[in-house]
Amino acid sequence: MKLSKRIFSKILGLSIIAIIFPFKTIFAATKKIINPNLSKEQKNIMFNEGTERPFTSDLLNEKRKGFYHCANCGNKLFASNSKFNSGTGWPSFSEALPGAFKTKIDRSFGMERIEYHCAKCGAHHGHVFNDGPRESGKRFCNNGLCLIFKPE
Ligand SMILES: [Zn+2]
Repeated sequence: MKLSKRIFSKILGLSIIAIIFPFKTIFAATKKIINPNLSKEQKNIMFNEGTERPFTSDLLNEKRKGFYHCANCGNKLFASNSKFNSGTGWPSFSEALPGAFKTKIDRSFGMERIEYHCAKCGAHHGHVFNDGPRESGKRFCNNGLCLIFKPE
């Protein structure tokens, strides 16, 4: 009786490790700092789900033609023709380039929002809402610090 109890807890312990370990490995593999020059604030937004203060991004008034890339890994995320002025204080886009992001439901602050992450490096970029003014109906609300604009 005593022995079987011990074996049982050993098996239970091993299976718990087996369940937890692969998740941890997946998590670590999908979220990583690639750009060694990221600032403390950029890291806080991209890897700690932080948010930059509104109306602080230099990209708010960016109107040139080109593409917006991930500040961490360089992944191409938005084309300039999808950018619009939402008045929220964060760079906003009506659509992302195909396969640019992966989404996840964020239930923080008592709200249910769709959070999106760079599909290549896993860095958090912002939230997407269904109140966009254009045909797509989407509004990607992106932290400017997570983006690098490359003019055409
Ligand atoms: Zn990235």
